[in-house]
Amino acid sequence: VSARAAALAGNSLTGLFTLARARGAVDLAVGTPGCPRTPHALVEEAARALRAGRNQYEHPAGDPGLRQWIAETAGDGADPDREITITAGATEALYVALLSTLDPGDEVVLFSPGYEQFAAAVALVGARPRFVPLHAPDWRHDPAELAAAFTPRTRAVLLNTPANPTGRVLTAGELRDIAGLCARWNTTAICDEVYRGFVFDGHEHLSVARVPELAGRSIVIGSLSKSHAVSGWRLGFLRSDPERTTALRRVHELTTNGTAAPLQAAAARAAGSADPEEIRREMGRRRDLAQHIFSGLGMKSAPVEGGCFLFADISPLTGGREDCTAFVRRLLDRSGVLLAPGAPFFADLAQGRNWVRIAFNRPEETLREAEHRLAAG
Ligand code: PMP
Ligand code: GLN
Repeated sequence: VSARAAALAGNSLTGLFTLARARGAVDLAVGTPGCPRTPHALVEEAARALRAGRNQYEHPAGDPGLRQWIAETAGDGADPDREITITAGATEALYVALLSTLDPGDEVVLFSPGYEQFAAAVALVGARPRFVPLHAPDWRHDPAELAAAFTPRTRAVLLNTPANPTGRVLTAGELRDIAGLCARWNTTAICDEVYRGFVFDGHEHLSVARVPELAGRSIVIGSLSKSHAVSGWRLGFLRSDPERTTALRRVHELTTNGTAAPLQAAAARAAGSADPEEIRREMGRRRDLAQHIFSGLGMKSAPVEGGCFLFADISPLTGGREDCTAFVRRLLDRSGVLLAPGAPFFADLAQGRNWVRIAFNRPEETLREAEHRLAAG
């Protein structure tokens, strides 16, 4: 195998997913949702599209109706024909964004802790990560540390708001500062906004596409995986300016050339049937319940501003004597509840030893069952 493939550690969640299934555990580790529920209309439309014979290639840029819907939900005049591209999930979108922005050896600024796949994808495209620490307890960065990470070789900054695993939502001020650095160093802001609909307590999601100083230098990554509970459908998207979109589409044509046509058709017809306000309220209730359950056990976490994860400090329970992996194993053995060890989200694994990630995009019954098992165990 190639050196770059050999160097990949593998996704830490894939093993957990298998383990949780084998043990019949309540899985609060992997971000696979049961909340919000998959809209019934989407499933009906998918069946209809298959029966209607929508079984051949879609245009590589994606179903025009779905692009139109995505452009409308952006709410700021995005052009579906020249600025939106449908991808096989946010996962493909990330890879396409990096490949069309970076050459081998270029530097990418990204935060730690952050979504595990970011660092791996940066490595896979042969670029060099420059990690900026987020500081507990509230997971903000130090502006001086961020500024110091930019160099003449910086070609991209990789953002995620609302963030996995920290639950932070970037503020207008933070985005403006980042935009200033991007302008100064001629850098593209690539922002994973897959959790854009999940924001709580008056926090507002602000897309990089709406930051004036980032005009012409931003790429948005989106997905229906979590917003519509269709992670198995592999529906994601990219939004950028027309010039970059041309480059993105060229790379996209060489990676997947498009995702499942009948599922795109179904989403085009029925994605709008989900009520964003209802979903936001529902997710807020799940967050409150998860915070109640896990703070009740003695774990400490910052208030979750957005996204679908609680990132919790286990040291009040372990006294620092047990690391996150041992803790997660013990909880699985004793209570049949699976959490995600926090270490893989950190550039330096040792810094994550006291953290676990808890996915709360679950039906209430699932969270109650976890509560029950944890109390019994
Ligand atoms: N980005 C983030 C921040 C995620 O948490 C996830 C999935 N949990 C993804 C991307 C992957 O999304 P998709 O299923 O659309 O590939
Ligand atoms: N993104 C999902 C999560 O963070 C996992 C997706 C995957 O790794 N296949 O839980």
